[in-house]
Amino acid sequence: MTSRYAVFGHPVAHSLSPRIHRAFARQAGTTVDYNLIDVDPDSFGDALLAFAGAGGVGANVTLPLKEAAYSLASSSTDRARRAGAVNTLTRNADGWAGDNTDGAGLVRDLTERHRLDLRGRRVLLLGAGGAAHGVAPALLDAGIDSMIVVNRHADRADRMVDALNDPERASSRYWDDLGTIGDFELIINATSAGREHGKFQLPFSLAKPRFVAVDLSYGEAAIGFLAWARAAKAEHAIDGLGMLVEQAAESFEQWHGKRPDTDPVYAELRASSAVLRTGD
Ligand code: NDP
Repeated sequence: MTSRYAVFGHPVAHSLSPRIHRAFARQAGTTVDYNLIDVDPDSFGDALLAFAGAGGVGANVTLPLKEAAYSLASSSTDRARRAGAVNTLTRNADGWAGDNTDGAGLVRDLTERHRLDLRGRRVLLLGAGGAAHGVAPALLDAGIDSMIVVNRHADRADRMVDALNDPERASSRYWDDLGTIGDFELIINATSAGREHGKFQLPFSLAKPRFVAVDLSYGEAAIGFLAWARAAKAEHAIDGLGMLVEQAAESFEQWHGKRPDTDPVYAELRASSAVLRTGD
């Protein structure tokens, strides 16, 4: 039976993952059967069973299924447990092994592609959804000085910070207090607000001179936050396209045992559509 791979999400039609995994496979001199599967959270477990029955051996998981994927996995890596969310599932004899490559993907994009030193930075993380859960532990491990998590629904940020279990460095604040919590050297937008509306209004007082702004979204969804960042005089305003390619590379390596060269794939995606040219 052909080994099958897929990305599960809802909606998922926009996902670039099939294109990225097929490009990595071409680099390795092979092809990959990698498709999109749109499934709502209630049907995800059944869909995963059907996928395994049809030869499914590897799956990426995107919004809004990452926390459900963590529950469905029969085992999880340490970083998936710390995130409480899974974006990579690998079939084994016991079921599905869960991992979370989002944080490693972000850190690799920032430190290797953009040559940024994250150590000692004061970080503001906006959002406490699946993506924020994935990147927060990796940022702490990368040696940042401190992280304040702010989410529209504050209880979610509180729970996330509790789970991080690093009270010296990680804390939460209310969204309404953004104007009074000081300034930051790295501001990360891990919300999906940009998908709903174009504008992104934050106080300019959050911006330390020469700060770095990162939106985990890319394309049109990143335009509003990155426009705010440039108006606030960010030294770098980076979208999530590089992270997307890097987290995919981590999954690809787990499944196929080969580390892809991400630069040509990133360059091709960046060049392929004007709407994606929102990074620095
Ligand atoms: P979730 O649905 O899990 O979480 C959404 C988050 O956005 C929550 O914190 C939510 O707050 C917040 N939010 C939604 N609307 C608003 C709003 N109008 N104002 C303020 N906050 C809002 O999504 P994910 O965490 O999985 O994804 C978040 C973004 O990150 C998406 O745009 C996604 O595309 C991107 N992403 C990019 C990746 C990459 O590789 N580049 C990987 C993963 C995600 P609340 O809890 O209060 O509802």
